[in-house]
This record gives sequence, C-alpha cells and structure tokens, in this order.
Amino acid sequence: MLTCKEFDDFMVDYLEQGLPVWRNFMCWLHVKMCRECADFVRDYKRAVKLGQIAFDSPDEPVPDFVPEELIKAALSHRRSN
Ligand SMILES: [Zn+2]
Repeated sequence: MLTCKEFDDFMVDYLEQGLPVWRNFMCWLHVKMCRECADFVRDYKRAVKLGQIAFDSPDEPVPDFVPEELIKAALSHRRSN
C-alpha cells in the first residue's frame, strides 16, 4: 500500500484522474484505508467545488473560511508525514 507521503505526491493527479490505472487504484485503496487522507481528499474536493461555484458566479462572494480551513488541513496533513 502507498504511504501517506506517496499518496500526497500523486494526490493532485489522482483527483484530476490523470494517473495510470494501477497507480489510480493504489491511490483509491489508500483513501479507503487511510482516514486522514480520506478527510483531506474530501476537503480538497469541497474546495474545488467552491472554486467552481466562484468561477461560475463571479459576483457571488466566496466564503472566506474555506481557504483557511484548506490551508490548515494541508499543513496538518504535511506535518503528519
Ligand atoms: Zn494516508
């Protein structure tokens, strides 16, 4: 199984579905087995979705708590590896 550090290296490509099938499967498996990375992926997807909402509706204010939460999640994720 991938370590959290290895998953971290592939995570963006995984979320963008840009990985070869086998590596994609290893990442998927890691997310199923690792609570921390599953939480991180969930927060990342939420942030991306909010980014898309902001992009689709440029006049709507983006909630300012989101980037800070994501930064905290990213920092704590990196510290734990
Ligand atoms: Zn992990």
